[in-house]
Amino acid sequence: MANSEYRPGVPDNWFVDPIRLGVPGVSSRGEEDEENPLAWQSDALCAQTDPEAFFPEKGGSTRDAKKICESCEVRAQCLEYALQNDERFGIWGGLSERERRKLRKRAV
Ligand code: SF4
Repeated sequence: MANSEYRPGVPDNWFVDPIRLGVPGVSSRGEEDEENPLAWQSDALCAQTDPEAFFPEKGGSTRDAKKICESCEVRAQCLEYALQNDERFGIWGGLSERERRKLRKRAV
């Protein structure tokens, strides 16, 4: 099967910069945009680092990514977004896929 060696890796759209994309209503920092669910990404600390760390290979270390999340200003929004959108891969809001799955189960 062609897909058998599929590895998630870093998705192409893992980071969408609403400012760069020129999403209407999104300007530079400081203005909250309640209509754009990705507006928080303009303050994402991981956007300034190596995205590979946030999408480690299976069994790879997540420690570096989680450490960066600890100082990220938009950690809460990031986690909320990942939970709402059922993001399956990578570190979001300082939690791994497995940790997010547990959190979701607890919330149900
Ligand atoms: S909490 Fe972590 S994954 Fe989320 S935006 Fe911040 S640094 Fe990136």
